[in-house]
Amino acid sequence: MLHFNIKHLSLAASVCLVASSACAAIKINSSYYSPRNKERDKRSETTLLVLHTTEAPSGSALRKLSEMGECHYCIDEAGRVYSIIDPRRIAFHSGRSMWNGKQEVDNFSIGIETCGYHNKPLSSAQTQALKELIELIKTTYKLTDAQVVPHSQIAYGAPNKWQPKNHRGRKRCGMQFAMPSIRAKLGLKSRPTRDPDVAARRLVIADPALAEVLYGKMSAFTAPQPQDYEPKSISPVIGKKPPARPSTGYQTIGVSNRAQDIAGTAIRSSTTLYVYPDGRYATGSQLTSGAILKLPYGTKVLLDYTCAGTVSSQRPPLLICGSKWRSPTTYYLLNGALIPGNMVNDGKIPSGTPIFIRKG
Ligand SMILES: [Zn+2]
Repeated sequence: MLHFNIKHLSLAASVCLVASSACAAIKINSSYYSPRNKERDKRSETTLLVLHTTEAPSGSALRKLSEMGECHYCIDEAGRVYSIIDPRRIAFHSGRSMWNGKQEVDNFSIGIETCGYHNKPLSSAQTQALKELIELIKTTYKLTDAQVVPHSQIAYGAPNKWQPKNHRGRKRCGMQFAMPSIRAKLGLKSRPTRDPDVAARRLVIADPALAEVLYGKMSAFTAPQPQDYEPKSISPVIGKKPPARPSTGYQTIGVSNRAQDIAGTAIRSSTTLYVYPDGRYATGSQLTSGAILKLPYGTKVLLDYTCAGTVSSQRPPLLICGSKWRSPTTYYLLNGALIPGNMVNDGKIPSGTPIFIRKG
């Protein structure tokens, strides 16, 4: 920790030479410096600064951000600036993201979290601290004002039960930082004038109100709430009924579909089940955050599921889960594969097979 402080201060000090007015006032607190730092690679480039809102008060937000290594800096309600991940390393703050055709925005960006909400003004102390930190980072990485963007502007969603295409509008995080009036308070004179990925038809717009805030004149503080809004994992779509659930009730961890993208705040829940490619499984509450971040590609994630029991000669599936034993949303873990209840060969369910059932 001491080692970090010295390194960090020297980095800040060297930046002061070119941005003396900006960073003279910035005091950086290292009490939430993340244990994930040692696992993170260095970035080879920095072409975006991504601004977030935690959607939670600082007490809980800082602990989680530090534990998971989810941003470089966090600014609390009183305007205190915390260092979470070394600014030269990769922080996991963007999730599934794309800007101008480039995916995995974490690999080329700095992320700042502000403890607050996408549709509520920040405190003046927070605004002032954010302004100074933005100036420092813009100077350090030679960023233009239009390279400072809210998270919602670069996040995108994969097809889901609401939206059949890759789409912008996965979340509204940091939405207020697109408003010209807020940007003026942060010393930002311009913003992106259009969504390059929507323009190139890589993405469609799933949240028209968000698009109006990002590129039009709508206020983040009065924008209509989307219907069917589930903040973490599902895209809001105005005016559409969700189609039927997809045929598989689980998602698989891959390059741009990490545990935190899939499970959001339920990442360490006792009703989130992780099934490793080798057939082992655990609930989110049984794993450390470090173990969850290291889950191999191919790990399946079931949300809102519990293990109802394990098949034995005394306990056949019907005794374990009643009428749910034949349901398409019930899964049998057979040789590392998840077989839905309506497709399982009931003559061939070996003893020791776990059965996962959806809650509710
Ligand atoms: Zn965010």
